[in-house]
Amino acid sequence: MKALAVDLGGSHATCALVEDRKIVRAHTLAAEGSRGLASALPLLADELRAVMNEAGCRTPECAGLAFCFCGLVNHANAKVISTNAKYDDAPSLDLKAWCEKSLGVPFKIENDARMALLGERYAGAAQGFDDVVMVTLGTGIGGAAMIQGRPLRGQHAQAGCLGGHFPVLFTGRRCTCGAIGCAEAEASGWSLPNVCRNTRGFDSSLLANEGSITFERLFRCAGAGDRVAIEVRDRCLAVWGALAVGLIHAYDPEVVVLGGGVMQSGFEILPFLQDYVNRHAWTPWGKVSLRSAGLGNQAALLGAIPLLQGHTET
Ligand SMILES: [Zn+2]
Repeated sequence: MKALAVDLGGSHATCALVEDRKIVRAHTLAAEGSRGLASALPLLADELRAVMNEAGCRTPECAGLAFCFCGLVNHANAKVISTNAKYDDAPSLDLKAWCEKSLGVPFKIENDARMALLGERYAGAAQGFDDVVMVTLGTGIGGAAMIQGRPLRGQHAQAGCLGGHFPVLFTGRRCTCGAIGCAEAEASGWSLPNVCRNTRGFDSSLLANEGSITFERLFRCAGAGDRVAIEVRDRCLAVWGALAVGLIHAYDPEVVVLGGGVMQSGFEILPFLQDYVNRHAWTPWGKVSLRSAGLGNQAALLGAIPLLQGHTET
């Protein structure tokens, strides 16, 4: 089975032709979420036609276009519900009509974290499992849940995908979502510099000499024995541990798949979280397995086939 796929992020768009569990052809373009989606649609259609031409694939061979979007999406009516400072015009657009008119194939759309979960379950770290939680640790913290083989969507399409906004500290920092002490506000790429600067002794730590503070730099400075870096690193690990236990208690998974750029910065993340979950999650049936995502930034594209096959309908 062949399908077209678009993975639309805040700063990039990847247009691809996929066939079952492999990406046949892909073009990645720079995109600017702040400029809106309407002006990008003609470019996306051109690139999708180009990948089909290069692969010698004709439109009737494609099962459809799976569109992966970085915001809240209503899969049932193929509309974007809400955005967060990226492609803010998207809720007003009829993407289904655009796709059918400009590409002549059926259209389905889903949130990026759910697409990544579908991809990891179809071709990556969660193959063979029906009950899965996905967590992506990056600039923000993304999430998605699958229960008994169906992605959790809920009445307002928000179920399972606000994992980064699980409160882990009710006396904590204010989050961009309006809540207090979300996992994202305490331990994500956007909140990390602030967390470090507010840690006692920061001015004399190795981190104060870094141009910008990233998790890669945090883990490096902690590895070099810097006291502040060690304190912040251990605090972030504890936040992610509490988040993982919360997600396990909420969604009853067999497997938690951890992805996102932060997972590349510290080899100690996975064993720490596995041990934390083993000690603190209430799962009398056995132990939840924590795994690194297997597909990297291809996961969402490889979610195209299961999305279009409709095996995921709720
Ligand atoms: Zn939040």
